[in-house]
Amino acid sequence: MDRTAFTATASPLIDAFGRTISYLRLSVTDRCDLRCVYCMKARPDFLPKAQLLTLEELTHVADAFIRRGVSKIRITGGEPLVRRDILTLIENLGARIGSTALEEVCLTTNATQLPRYAEQIAAAGVKRINVSLDTLDAGRFDTLTRGGRLSDTLDGIEAAAQAGLQVKINTVALKSGNADELDRLVSWSHEQGFDITFIEVMPMGDVGFDRADQFLPLTAVRDGFEQNWTLSDIPDRTGGPARYVRVAETGGRIGFITPLTENFCAGCNRVRLTCTGQLYMCLGQSDRVDLRAALREGGPDALDQALDAAMQAKPEAHDFDVSRGAGPSVGRTMAHTGG
Ligand code: SAM
Ligand code: SF4
Repeated sequence: MDRTAFTATASPLIDAFGRTISYLRLSVTDRCDLRCVYCMKARPDFLPKAQLLTLEELTHVADAFIRRGVSKIRITGGEPLVRRDILTLIENLGARIGSTALEEVCLTTNATQLPRYAEQIAAAGVKRINVSLDTLDAGRFDTLTRGGRLSDTLDGIEAAAQAGLQVKINTVALKSGNADELDRLVSWSHEQGFDITFIEVMPMGDVGFDRADQFLPLTAVRDGFEQNWTLSDIPDRTGGPARYVRVAETGGRIGFITPLTENFCAGCNRVRLTCTGQLYMCLGQSDRVDLRAALREGGPDALDQALDAAMQAKPEAHDFDVSRGAGPSVGRTMAHTGG
């Protein structure tokens, strides 16, 4: 392979507000083997497979970003590990680490497929994965995921740890779903040696009911933790929006991602590509650039030009607001955009 072809030679991606974009979240499918209540409808209208970028196209687009200095790519979805041949993409991208601008490939997953894939994912060069886990109660897991089995996710987490992958747990805080269990999730995660990050539910897509019934502000969650634990703010940043605290009693870290209660857009370093090749410059806005068209119909410079246009169009901040009632702030779901 001619590694020089991947060297970051082109100008870096800098948006109109001076923010350097070094992080791409790449959604490889909108499909999933679970149906989390806050993420998608019970019977989602999945995209026809023909609309998806092929693995070759995904790799090609990723290379365009890497040439422009993107150093971190997170593979996500939908559930990325339900896409056939996903390992090929992970291996292709892993092979670029170190010899290009790319420094890290990571993954966000519900972990159900990890018993099958964890070792190969680690062998491909992935070091860290985020696993979504909202409850440790099997009945509640079944309810929140509409039919999922907790043991599948726990087996996947164990397989990941065995394979040497560093696991971080992501938990969406839900007023009527897991609010009474968040302390337990912290204790459990820290016992396993995992960080845990809590996320406020975002009003994305029509999931069939009012977001206000689900929304639990993390300010209240943190207040609750402080009744039981000694928390100290720590400056650790993992290149993302999470703010971290250390728990004196467990020694572990808790992250808080607070898109609704504390806007973090000023430091945004990322963009998101959907599995159909639409580049969204902000999770909470609808501005997008069609990279699939640039890829399939444009000339040799079309992708680079599209990336330049995207930088000019990246909004300053998101527009999430759960107080609008039942209506979502953006029409597409997280699974479509790539969480
Ligand atoms: N299926 C994988 C998983 O669950 O980890 C990856 C995709 S999922 C869309 C990525 C993350 O988005 C998960 O942590 C999930 O909990 C979160 N998520 C989905 N819908 C959300 C919403 N409306 N608000 C906040 N987080 C959401
Ligand atoms: Fe699937 Fe992840 Fe959405 Fe749950 S959050 S339905 S696991 S894509």
